[in-house]
Amino acid sequence: MKEYLVFSKDISSTKEASNGVKAKLLEAVVDEMQNGVLVIDAKKRLLYANPFFEKTFSLEGKPDGKNLSDVIKDKAVIEAIDRMLISKEEKPQEIAVEGKGGRFFEARLVPFLMDAAPKSQMALIGFFHDVTEEKRVEAIKRDFVANVSHELRTPLASIKGYAETLLDGALDDKKTLKNFLTIIDRHANRMTALIEDLLTLSMLESHQMPMSFEPLDIKGLINSIIQGFEKQAKDKGIKLITDIGKEIPKIPADKDRLEQVIVNLVDNAIKYTNNGTVKIFVRKSDNMLQIDVEDTGIGIPEKDIPRIFERFYRVDKGRSRELGGTGLGLAIVKHIIQGHNGKIWVKSELGKGSVFSFSLPL
Ligand code: ADP
Repeated sequence: MKEYLVFSKDISSTKEASNGVKAKLLEAVVDEMQNGVLVIDAKKRLLYANPFFEKTFSLEGKPDGKNLSDVIKDKAVIEAIDRMLISKEEKPQEIAVEGKGGRFFEARLVPFLMDAAPKSQMALIGFFHDVTEEKRVEAIKRDFVANVSHELRTPLASIKGYAETLLDGALDDKKTLKNFLTIIDRHANRMTALIEDLLTLSMLESHQMPMSFEPLDIKGLINSIIQGFEKQAKDKGIKLITDIGKEIPKIPADKDRLEQVIVNLVDNAIKYTNNGTVKIFVRKSDNMLQIDVEDTGIGIPEKDIPRIFERFYRVDKGRSRELGGTGLGLAIVKHIIQGHNGKIWVKSELGKGSVFSFSLPL
């Protein structure tokens, strides 16, 4: 790390010494800034670029008063500077920089006139503020709102459609009435599930759902969860098995949240399997406990695996909805496991089945 040395005698009463200190401080600030700073003259010669600018825009050689276009190869930067020079407004310009990962900057040019210097010698200071992360977060928020609206609009449109048909006369036919009310009820349930999942996720993300860690008997928890799924599994021709290692110690965990994780994984395993097996393994290794939920179901295409824990990401939206899914289950599961300092991952083969595994520190 670079050190900026200021001698204590400089911080003395003389004006020159104190100016020297100020200059050194300023140099340190500009050098260490995580934003690009450059200085150009009226003839578009680059007089100075701070280390961040040099690194981000891969300057070819040192500034040393060279023409901008000889040192900066990124056309977007040159064009933005040209636009700022022409425009009289102080409006920041947006620049998209290609290259590693693609970054976004907001750039501003500020005129800087030395004492009594003629206008032709005016310098301009350019500030390049990295807004990549802000843009990323903005895009996530936008997608999320669009997804939520879409997910709510679909069942709502169905409820409205069936209710209107009933009001238009179908009400008199008892069989149709029952049929339509059943459908309305199903859609209303879907909306309730979605809103509950959204609330859970938002509370987990904003850390408003405190976890209370207590020594937890994982074997007892799994056995009681399994009982609740027996009928559902039997109806789909699924054998539900547990394989729990000997001497599994109690683990520090939030019982309700961990129950939610296992219920979600087992529910998915059953949902996405027909006539097969769903097996839950519990194993202890060194200082971790690993739990696997394995199924012989439809599996997940390789290209979808990296995104499967994202909110609303589903391999087959239609199928997930039909099965009563919200597309938020795995996002919730991931948050809870991370809240336990654990890890979660999935291995899957299309048409053969999936294994969702998580490990928790003992
Ligand atoms: P959903 O409510 O749609 O089940 P999840 O977040 O629980 O939402 O899961 C996201 C997606 O991951 C599902 O829509 C499905 O495509 C896939 N998925 C999850 N678990 C399994 C599994 N055991 N087998 C196959 N696909 C699965």
